[in-house]
Amino acid sequence: MRKHIFNAGPCKLSDSCLENTAKAVIELNNSGQSILEVSHRSKDFQAVIDEATALFKECLNIPENYHVLFLGGGASTQFAMIPFNFLKKKAVYVNTGTWSSKAIKEAQLFGEVEVIASSEDKKHTYYPKGFKIPADADYLHITSNNTIRGTEIFEDLDSPIPVIADMSSDIMSRPVDVSKYVMIYGGAQKNMGPSGATFVIIQDEFMKTAIKDRVIPTMLKYDTHVDSGSMYNTPPCINIFALNETLKWVKAQGGVEAMEKLAIERAGLLYSEFDRNSLFKSPVEPGSRSRMNIPFVWTEGNDGLQDAFLKFAADRNIVGLKGHRSVGGFRASTYNASTIEDVNVLVKCMQDFEAENK
Ligand SMILES: *Cc1c(COP(=O)(O)O)cnc(C)c1O
Repeated sequence: MRKHIFNAGPCKLSDSCLENTAKAVIELNNSGQSILEVSHRSKDFQAVIDEATALFKECLNIPENYHVLFLGGGASTQFAMIPFNFLKKKAVYVNTGTWSSKAIKEAQLFGEVEVIASSEDKKHTYYPKGFKIPADADYLHITSNNTIRGTEIFEDLDSPIPVIADMSSDIMSRPVDVSKYVMIYGGAQKNMGPSGATFVIIQDEFMKTAIKDRVIPTMLKYDTHVDSGSMYNTPPCINIFALNETLKWVKAQGGVEAMEKLAIERAGLLYSEFDRNSLFKSPVEPGSRSRMNIPFVWTEGNDGLQDAFLKFAADRNIVGLKGHRSVGGFRASTYNASTIEDVNVLVKCMQDFEAENK
């Protein structure tokens, strides 16, 4: 029986993605070869990556002057690639938790980093708003959704300098005004497909501002990947295949608008249950609460029930609730393929647990 999957990443994927990828593992189209065997230079694979690029552009309404790349290395490699290519003197970052801190750490290898806003003072339980963006930096970097702490910004910022966003865990969960960013990137495994592929959306004009007089290895330059259509080296073929299946599924569901509607409904069910349930509460301030990663903690005096609740949930076929090891508590990650039914099962589980333990 399929479980109710609330894993933070890799994420739950749609049935159609799983079924079509499974078929392609046996045979891709009628090529007589598996997606695991076929040449990345073949027309069969070219059609897959072309379709993924076109669907991504269509679903997210990506303007003409942007390139779409599917690379390896994860979002973590982008943390370094961005400052390697674009940090000339100073970059500004917003620190909203673990992933932003990691991005900041890499940027500090290449130049001056100013943290212009941070939620560290309150353990990253809110998303800083209304911060002033200086005009004298090379770029601003934000993490739009904080996978571990469960905070999210739903606004595409107005900025005097280029904005780069790590959208690993909220990409495709709402419409985005891509023109307000010079770059959007992320690991695919939170909302775009399985792990192994990294998506990069980069504005052509911005890419051309990359530092010329710095020694940068070929694989770490954006134009290498733009010029070769993400095939300078062998791309992660099956991961891109599954990512394409995910995009096809999103489009068939009604695109990012439909995904946003579902996300609001799912998150609403959980946050209202926290308000009602005497055992659980959200640690995140209203107004900053993520729709994708929903942490919850015990109300005062109830944390002795931790293991009992995880077992209670496991008996109901619910997996992935354990909070990140750095935070504790629980986290329900409700990415695009997460259904209202999955969430209803979890809500019912919390209600039944409360009834037995009040
Ligand atoms: C998971 C995650 C990352 C790291 O992604 P990798 O692909 O594992 O390198 C970076 N940023 C955010 C917001 C994430 O959720």
